[in-house]
Amino acid sequence: MKYADIIVDISHEDLDRTYQYLIPDDLKAKALIGIQVLIPFGKGNRQIKGYIIGLSDIPKWREEAIKPITSILEDTLMIEGQLITLAGWIKDTFGSTMNEALKTVLPVKRAVRQKENKVIRAALSKEELSAVLEREKKKNNKGRVRLLQELLIHPSLQFEQVKNDLNISAATVKDLEKMGIIQSEASVLYRNPVKQQPAALKAVTLSPSQQEIAEDFLKDYKEGIRKTYLLYGVTGSGKTEVYINIIEEIIKTGKQVIVLIPEISLTYQTVMRFYQKFGERVSIMNSRLSQGERYDQYIRAKNGDIDIMIGPRSALFTPFKDLGLIIMDEEHEGSYKSESPPKYHARETAIERARLCGASVVLGSATPSLESYKKALEGEYTLYRLSEREGIRQMPTIWTVDLREELKARNKSIFSRKLKSMIEERLQKKEQVMLFLNRRGYAGFVSCRSCGLVLKCPHCDISLTSHNNGKLVCHYCGYEESFPDKCPSCGSKYIASFGTGTQKVEEMAKKEFPGTRILRMDMDTTKKKGGHEEILSAFAKGQADILVGTQMIVKGHDFPRVTLVGVLAADLSLYAADFRASEKTFQLLTQAAGRAGRAELPGEVVIQTYQTDHHSIVYAGKGDYEGFYKQEMLYRKLMSYPPASHILAVLAASKEEEKALKASELLTEALKQWVDKEELIKYHVIGPAPARLSKANDIFRFCFYIKEDDYQRLVAAKDFLDGFYRFSEEFQGIVVQFDFDPMNS
Ligand code: ADP
Ligand code: ZN
Ligand code: ZN
Repeated sequence: MKYADIIVDISHEDLDRTYQYLIPDDLKAKALIGIQVLIPFGKGNRQIKGYIIGLSDIPKWREEAIKPITSILEDTLMIEGQLITLAGWIKDTFGSTMNEALKTVLPVKRAVRQKENKVIRAALSKEELSAVLEREKKKNNKGRVRLLQELLIHPSLQFEQVKNDLNISAATVKDLEKMGIIQSEASVLYRNPVKQQPAALKAVTLSPSQQEIAEDFLKDYKEGIRKTYLLYGVTGSGKTEVYINIIEEIIKTGKQVIVLIPEISLTYQTVMRFYQKFGERVSIMNSRLSQGERYDQYIRAKNGDIDIMIGPRSALFTPFKDLGLIIMDEEHEGSYKSESPPKYHARETAIERARLCGASVVLGSATPSLESYKKALEGEYTLYRLSEREGIRQMPTIWTVDLREELKARNKSIFSRKLKSMIEERLQKKEQVMLFLNRRGYAGFVSCRSCGLVLKCPHCDISLTSHNNGKLVCHYCGYEESFPDKCPSCGSKYIASFGTGTQKVEEMAKKEFPGTRILRMDMDTTKKKGGHEEILSAFAKGQADILVGTQMIVKGHDFPRVTLVGVLAADLSLYAADFRASEKTFQLLTQAAGRAGRAELPGEVVIQTYQTDHHSIVYAGKGDYEGFYKQEMLYRKLMSYPPASHILAVLAASKEEEKALKASELLTEALKQWVDKEELIKYHVIGPAPARLSKANDIFRFCFYIKEDDYQRLVAAKDFLDGFYRFSEEFQGIVVQFDFDPMNS
């Protein structure tokens, strides 16, 4: 490449603004994305530092006017350089612009002012100060008098404090400063988002199996081996204790650690466990922090004030100088995949970041993603198992209840007879119950209340979605049929789109169990800041007998008095228009079951379902992850779904429906011609069809899918399409987005 695009200041300059420079021949081998260079800048050709963020052979300017790079700074791939290199990788691997990728990995500084705290000192001797004090007393300048008196006692004062305690204004300080009586200096106060003081640490001695894993990992680490590990440990098996143990050893070597936890599980309880152990050396990032607070955490990490950063996806880009380890808890969680461009997966990105800076990665889960478990079985990741719960606690007993039998027995309640009697028993014993409704993705699927049949697309093995116009639609291929008036399988009239919400469950529970204290946790009740924590801690304190909720309730918290978990309709999440539906259902059921019996009291779980024989329900009922994995992989292989193969979803969106459709047709057509020309016979193109979210904010969305076994060949297809639409006039006003191995569509 002949030219380099360079950004000159990543924290101040708008990242969009790049400058093109010529790469001298002798620097070509080293001029890579992320490298820091010295360049002549501005009229005086002042030498300044910049980063290469792009390379090309096409001059954007008159060739003779493009200045050459002066030199490459040797000691580079410093932290910013690493993150910029990572941005380049994200752009190539997941499909986005470099700018979108840079905005993901670099912090936003604009308009963020740090909270300043001034320190005030006397600029004069005590005698001189006393003289000034007498003078000000005579003039009756009360504010000055209060401040001077205080300074005679304490030689240095915090402005924040005198402002509040002595009611001294900033103007008073300024005046005295101008008169040369006092000096003030700014000390930047970096806000620490962990406000509470930690309670005393509960000492935990690792069990032999925990110990064995920690030792094996650390042995590798000390030998300089860096790789990816998958810690598959059942709920409550003590994965977090293992993390804490290895983190402690790694920070002793002067390295830093990033701990990724899904936002939904990032509760007070979880954070405190780390805070109790590592105190001020740990910080957190989450969406509830203000932009200023987030920026502070970024600076604290860069300055070396902290060793451990805990947070969701975005914490992956913490600018630690000497990162030793990335831990990704609940690695199966869908929230690790970004839903806006770049649609990167934090797992793959963590592994790449670790590779760039010589760190290891530990993935942890009670229900590993098929992706990770497959790689672990194939030896790409090292597999560790923790198959027992720690302490005296046992795995819960799980009962599966067939809801079709309830209908036969004329029980129209949403509580089966078994669940009802078990709840009553708990209420009598003053133990607690959690009722769980896996609501996500259920809306609109149509099922028969008599036989449990769910209407599916004949071409896609995906449930059809009911639309307001009375049609049932497949969002993978566009297939349509009208809403039937009776069940095509058993002829029953009880066929309807499903719609039981948490609110209704709460009402029904109040009716069935009069006088019971019930808390509800869902999107509605947790809207306000801290609402989530408030409900959970009220429940933990025993202020309610029953907690009703969506998947939000299955994460993170330990409730020692919960001895029964009821899953009201386990099938709900099975019919999302999503090839991962069975996997998500299995994960949710396993996580929900994991909430029961976390302390001395043994736990039981009731799973209510119309499909007692569905593999995700059968294996969740048995607590058999491997069994589920084997069966689900057969399905993925048969259908060429990830991780057996790969899928690239291409979205074309426009304000005009026709334009969006036309654009997606042009793209598929161009792709087919390209495939023919290149004789790339393996690509399999499905669509275009309206996207699952076919219209959002008045923007119409069409989607098509490309299936292909080899990921790099999908990347090649993406590169082709990307080039095609950027240089084509028909794509004015059209947004095109790429999503590899989609998680949520
Ligand atoms: P996981 O992360 O696998 O769900 P945790 O690390 O949260 O499991 O452990 C579950 C519970 O068991 C926690 O309360 C933890 O303090 C406790 N625990 C874990 N390991 C031990 C141990 N070796 N000895 C005693 N208690 C333990
Ligand atoms: Zn039926
Ligand atoms: Zn279909």
